[in-house]
Formats: sequence, C-alpha cells, structure tokens
Amino acid sequence: MEVVLAKSAGFCFGVQKAVDTVYEQIEKKKGRIYTYGPIIHNEEVVKDLEEKGVLVINSLEELKAVKEGVVVIRSHGATKEIYDIIENNGLELVDATCPFVKKIHNIVREESDKGNFVIIIGSDKHPEVEGIKGWSDKENTVVIESEEQAENFVLDVEKKNKHICIVSQTTFNSNKFKYLVEIICKKGYYINVLDTICNATHMRQTEARKIAREVDAMIVIGGKNSSNTQKLYEISKSECNNTYYIQTVKDLDRAKLGQFEYIGITAGASTPKKIIEEVQTNVRKF
Ligand code: SF4
Repeated sequence: MEVVLAKSAGFCFGVQKAVDTVYEQIEKKKGRIYTYGPIIHNEEVVKDLEEKGVLVINSLEELKAVKEGVVVIRSHGATKEIYDIIENNGLELVDATCPFVKKIHNIVREESDKGNFVIIIGSDKHPEVEGIKGWSDKENTVVIESEEQAENFVLDVEKKNKHICIVSQTTFNSNKFKYLVEIICKKGYYINVLDTICNATHMRQTEARKIAREVDAMIVIGGKNSSNTQKLYEISKSECNNTYYIQTVKDLDRAKLGQFEYIGITAGASTPKKIIEEVQTNVRKF
C-alpha cells in the first residue's frame, strides 16, 4: 500500500499562533486564564489546556460574569461587543485573532461606515462569521451559504441603490464561493467582490483536490465541528468516492481501508501533528 500525506495537513499559522499564545499565558502565570470559546476545534488540545487550568467561556452571559483574569480571543476572532465587555469588566485582553480574519473585520467595518451593504459568504452560525457580523452594520449585512440563498437574494426597495461588498469566511470552499458570487453578480447591483479566503485554505483545498483525484481512498482528519475540515471532506468526496472523515486513529476502519492500494491523507487546520502522525503510521501498517 502506498500512502501520501498532504504537505498542508494540520495547524495553519493562525491556529498555531493562537494555541502558542495560550501556552505562553500559562507560562506567565498571571492569574486565571480564559479563552472565549474553545481555542481550536480539537478536543484533545482543549482538554490539555483545561488540565493546565484554562477555562472556556461559552457565552456572552458567562463572559459578563467574569471580573478578573486574562481572556484570550481565539483565531476565529470575536464581535466588537465581546471586546467591549472585556474592557468594561477590567479584564486583560490577549488577542489571538488571525490577521486574515482581522482584515475582514476592518473591511466590513469600513464598508458599513461608508453606508454600503455587506454580503458574507459563509456559514451563519460559524464563530468566525458571527465575529465578522459583529463589526458590520447588522441592518445592512447578510450571510449567504447556499445556492438557494444566493438565488433569492434581493436588496429591499429602499436599499436598491446601495453598493454591495462581498467577502468570504476564510475557510469557505473556494469553488463554491466563485459559484455563489456569479449568481449574485447577475442581479445587476453595483458589487465589489473581495475573495478573503485565506491562502492557507486555498493551498489546503487545492492539494486535497489534487491528491483525492489520484488515490483510491482518501482520509480527512479533523474535529467534528471544524468547518474547514468539513470543506476538505466535501472537496475530497467530490473527487474520490472512498473518502473517510475521521477524528483520531480510533476511527480508522481497517477492514475498509485495507482493500485499497493508494491512500491519501489530509487534515484540517486545527488537527494536531501528533494525531496526523498516528493515523499515518497506522495506515502504513495496513
Ligand atoms: S485558516 Fe487561515 S484565516 Fe483561519 S486561522 Fe488559519 S491562517 Fe488564519
């Protein structure tokens, strides 16, 4: 059996930076450390941090109740309201928002200030998209994820002369982004399109597509809630019917995978190296 591992598999620069930031805070021992939401979509890492005393804040209400300590904003970023609460409660803010996400916050804030309408192509409930929405004028912002939503999009009559700015969630499927933009652009509005899918995502998706096209079976490793891993799975599945989404080595199905001669492996941006190596070593043993 031959096994090929994607070079882009695993932590991207933004996730690595966020995780390193929390461990640095632990070293500094400056009091109670919180992360707003799990630092990454990976149970093992979050558990390790918990064991080292890092607590996860899961809601605005929980955050409002915290009056002391350090709050780390993860790579997904957060709404302006969250920054305001941290400041008003006298908490120390450590901002690990990925610079690529920060750039989108700035774009939507500036577009809103100019009175423009903002379309975010992405998953409405994803924390990164929630964070982006929080820097935009909510009356003039919409999130579009599906073909149907793109087809049905119209500006209200009183907004019909507004300029529209389209941005993307950093981990969105790049082909789907182009497709949805095409649908919206046919509607005749004045539209400025900014492809804000990050380079790490572009590279990861392109490599996954290329490998999936060549292999007999493809393994995609990542947390269940990881949006970018789900996109990698969709892309791989569209090229290779025998694509398997696993979280750890325990999910490997030896009976199924053992029948293939050429297997590809990729992993989401929040999958630790250790998990990828374990999977790779075990698959090679097949
Ligand atoms: S996927 Fe891209 S935008 Fe998101 S954290 Fe990684 S580098 Fe930053």
